[in-house]
Amino acid sequence: MNHDLIYQLEQHLCEDVLQLLHAGTEIASEQGQSLYLVGGVVRDLLLGRANFDLDLVVEGDAIKLASLLGQREGGEVVVHPRFGTAKFRRGGLAFDLATARAETYSRPGVLPAVHPGSIEDDLRRRDFTINAMAINLSGDSFGKLIDPYGGESDLKLKLIRILHQRSFIDDATRILRALRYEMRLGFQLEAGTEELLRRDVAMLHTMTGERIRHELELILAEERPEKILHRAEELGVLKEIYPTLSGDSWIMEKFEQARLGSYPSLRAIYFSLLASRFSPQEGEAFIERLKIPGAIARIIRDTLSLKAGLRILETPKLPHSAIYRLLHGYSSQAIVAGALASDSALIRQNLELYLNKLRYVKPSLNGRALQQMGLSPGPRLGEILHALEEARLDQKVKSKDQEEELVRRWLSE
Ligand code: ATP
Repeated sequence: MNHDLIYQLEQHLCEDVLQLLHAGTEIASEQGQSLYLVGGVVRDLLLGRANFDLDLVVEGDAIKLASLLGQREGGEVVVHPRFGTAKFRRGGLAFDLATARAETYSRPGVLPAVHPGSIEDDLRRRDFTINAMAINLSGDSFGKLIDPYGGESDLKLKLIRILHQRSFIDDATRILRALRYEMRLGFQLEAGTEELLRRDVAMLHTMTGERIRHELELILAEERPEKILHRAEELGVLKEIYPTLSGDSWIMEKFEQARLGSYPSLRAIYFSLLASRFSPQEGEAFIERLKIPGAIARIIRDTLSLKAGLRILETPKLPHSAIYRLLHGYSSQAIVAGALASDSALIRQNLELYLNKLRYVKPSLNGRALQQMGLSPGPRLGEILHALEEARLDQKVKSKDQEEELVRRWLSE
């Protein structure tokens, strides 16, 4: 029994969770099974960090255990028989329950074949030593750490270490996961792991676009994604994902600026910045390689198409209506990315003017008001509305009265 771990468990898990874990353990032991807390939560408990992502593993039948727990304690249980997993939810708390399993890899990049196994089997298939630990929750063993690969020692040494030589070949997503943990925890790749990562970096080709994109999104959700990208570039990882993808000092600087701007949908802006130095063809190939879905793909396309027309914004004293016409229809994230990416102060200023002001400008008079002034519906009315909008943007009119006066003048011409 590890008293320090029990203290951490009690410190970081709320009463409700502890009570449920005890109930789960009781049911498991009635079935002759053992229940364990595994993975990230164990790592974070040992680091004294909170982690509400609870993963439980049972040597037995997770679906049966979750169902019995739901019946006895109340709670919603969703089961996934294909994977032998279940999700338990009660009020605001949730945890995942999995059947301990062993894995065999048939070929790189393909999901492994799985079959029931022991907790040791289950830990053997994991990515890094610091993620390959479990805490026994059962009876007299409550609080006992199971650490077959020296994860606790690696936590102290601040090292990310794979479990065996073929780890990155079996699953190249671990290459990206390694870099994410390195930065997040302030750890370093263990020397042998770094060597194997460099050796196996080309295995990233075996990953589907969806999986690479998912990992990239997880990186972008970290606090300082540019540091991870920079490291990924240094290790030759980025060019394996996409040949001209870069994590250079330009990206480092622009990502930081993007964060300082506190824009909504920062992730989309990061994607745009990553693609902003691509040609349109490269942009398309990038979207295709990473299977980037609709909304973000559109923002990337907007970024590249906008880039081609931005020079116009360097014209001195450009009328506001011209700025509006150029930018109207582009997604705001692409315009933000355009402003961040541009090294011209005037272009940036005009993009910001549009984002902060021009895009909201509307004339006071609408179609109905124009009809009340005597215009009949038709193309002429549309033209007048359009001209009114330009006059408003260029501040030739500043009030409803002035708009009416202008319309009357046009009608009398
Ligand atoms: P966090 O959610 O804080 O990023 P986590 O460690 O909980 O960290 P998850 O991605 O939720 O990460 O994965 C849960 C656990 O599953 C990990 O701790 C690890 O043991 C295992 N795991 C996840 N992905 C892999 C992988 N590609 N190969 C091997 N094991 C993995």
